[in-house]
Amino acid sequence: MSLTTDVRTPGIQPSGGAGDALLEVSGLTVEYASAGAPTRACSDISFTLGRGEILGVVGESGSGKSTLITALTRLQRPPAVTTAGSIRYRPRDRGEAIDLVTLTPKALRGLRWTRMSIVLQSAMDALNPVMRLGAQFVDVLRTHDRRMSRAAAWDEARRLLGLVGISADRVRSYPHELSGGMRQRATIALALACRPELIVMDEPTTAVDVVMQRQILAQVLRLRREFGFAVVFVTHDLSLLLELADRIAVMYGGRIVELAPARDVYHSPRHPYTKGLRDSFPPLHATSTRLEGIPGTPPDLRALPPGCAFADRCPAVMDRCRTELPLLQPVGDTIVACHLHDEEVPA
Ligand code: SF4
Repeated sequence: MSLTTDVRTPGIQPSGGAGDALLEVSGLTVEYASAGAPTRACSDISFTLGRGEILGVVGESGSGKSTLITALTRLQRPPAVTTAGSIRYRPRDRGEAIDLVTLTPKALRGLRWTRMSIVLQSAMDALNPVMRLGAQFVDVLRTHDRRMSRAAAWDEARRLLGLVGISADRVRSYPHELSGGMRQRATIALALACRPELIVMDEPTTAVDVVMQRQILAQVLRLRREFGFAVVFVTHDLSLLLELADRIAVMYGGRIVELAPARDVYHSPRHPYTKGLRDSFPPLHATSTRLEGIPGTPPDLRALPPGCAFADRCPAVMDRCRTELPLLQPVGDTIVACHLHDEEVPA
């Protein structure tokens, strides 16, 4: 991994202070109802997302990141239930924060596309295969702006496709006539259609090749700079977030175990799991090194241990790790949940 090839534009700094917060997630807990005890897929998740910030969320399968996405966007379906916590969204043009957890379905519909939108892992899940691309843009645009004429909506569709490097004549194509990378860029353009303040991206580059992946990342950064929206970008690929995100939240066993500026995650990861993740990916632009990987498998969320969920895989495990749950604590610019840092926490 190398930050020397960073596609970020110099000058954009991590934000997220309470003063310019777009989203404040506090104590968010999501459980799946089952015959026995409920399975807690997200436990006590808290973070703040600044306006225009890109927050990366990373973790292995089963870490709870997909559950977090569906909870944030309120797209979760039973048996998943948000059992505690709040997601306070602060629209720029309204004084009061809105708690998305308690919002009615009708009020939520009013926020979708216009305030927040989502880009899914598979473009074919988002695009209607039997509708021309442009018609899908026209649908979204005219649903949210009833005064927009059909002709103006088609023009806007062409403009939006141009923003992600797709030529205007593609507006009449069907999704199956586009390459995978083009389809994924089209869904990003669709997410932008109503100028949202927040775009949640769920592994949007997993299904495309590395070259297209980098093009999409560069476009996300350029569009963020141009339109100022914030992004929650979820992936299992930490190396990708190091090039894209302002800050990175690392999830393990349904909890955030480290949250830090991307540069700190790369140069000085505090949690042994974060370090293991960082060392699991090959450097893109440096001489090849022996990859270390993380031994073992992620914990079963149905039977989490009382102490640290990473204990069975941790090279630095101590006796207390097996019985005492490490809580998130500030260490420098990072917050981390690991007993190794208990002594460094300010009184
Ligand atoms: Fe390892 Fe203990 Fe830290 Fe968990 S709390 S990551 S087991 S040192």
